Order: sequence, then C-alpha cells, then structure tokens
Amino acid sequence: MKPPRKHVIGRRQEQLLQEVVHDAYRSKRKLPEPTRCKDCGAVWRRGRWSWGAAPAGAHSARCPACRRVRDRLPAGYVSLGGEFFAAHREEVLGRVRRCETAEKRGHPLERIMDIKADGRGVLVTTTGAHLAHRIGEALKRAYKGELDARYLKADNLLRVTWTR
Ligand SMILES: [Zn+2]
Repeated sequence: MKPPRKHVIGRRQEQLLQEVVHDAYRSKRKLPEPTRCKDCGAVWRRGRWSWGAAPAGAHSARCPACRRVRDRLPAGYVSLGGEFFAAHREEVLGRVRRCETAEKRGHPLERIMDIKADGRGVLVTTTGAHLAHRIGEALKRAYKGELDARYLKADNLLRVTWTR
C-alpha cells in the first residue's frame, strides 16, 4: 500500500501546470484593451480576462477558451468511472458542474467544454487545465476514490482520472 498523497500533483507538475496556462491559446500577441470576446462576452482588461461590461468601442476578438471550444481542443480531460460513480452518476456530475460554476466566476477561461459517455464512464473536457485539476481534487475530497493526474507536456494538457 502506498501512503495516501495529500496533493495529487507534485511541485514539478504544479510548475508544468503553470506552463499549460501560458500555452499557445494565451498567445503573447497583445490584444488591445479593452477587448470583448464575441462569443462569451468576457473582457480583456489590464492584462487578464474577466467578466463585466465592456465599454462602448471595445475591440472584438475571441477569448482563448472560446477558441478552444471552436477548435474542439480541450486543455483538460477528466475521466470518471467505477461502480460507485455508475450508481451516483448524477450526484457526482452535479458536483462537477458546481466546481465549474465556482471556478468560472473568477476565471472566465476555466470552463467545461463537454460531458459525454466514454466507455463505461464519463469524460469531462475543460478549456483550462486548472479546472480539470480542481474537479479531480473536489471529487477526491467529497467521495475519496482513486485520483490520478498527469500532465502531458507533448500535448500540453492535463489528464485526470477519478475512479470509485
Ligand atoms: Zn470567449
């Protein structure tokens, strides 16, 4: 038996996670301020995306999250499975959605892209790696189970698996 790990991902992976955040979708190309996302309405101001009204005359572009949605290229994958999950599927998915609601409030780029059946489980895809990480931690905290998180540098994404 391995001792229980407090944190699913270590310091090095936390560092890598930061790199995911600064990935190609958060291009270094400077957007004019303010810019409003034409899809979700998030506003780019003072070097970050946030929710709020854009002043008249704001520029128009697409935020990184909406670009990922259009390209169907998630930054995070969360696989949910196991007998407990099968028996409590709606409850667990409700928690997953509440996790998104809480995260998205302060971080417009952290959203769920899709929730779909995947083999005998469910695959949740996210526009941000942090949300995938948060979902995994929240499920582990609420329901125990097995949690695994891997940052795949080559693909620049976080893959989380929760099984119970
Ligand atoms: Zn957007």
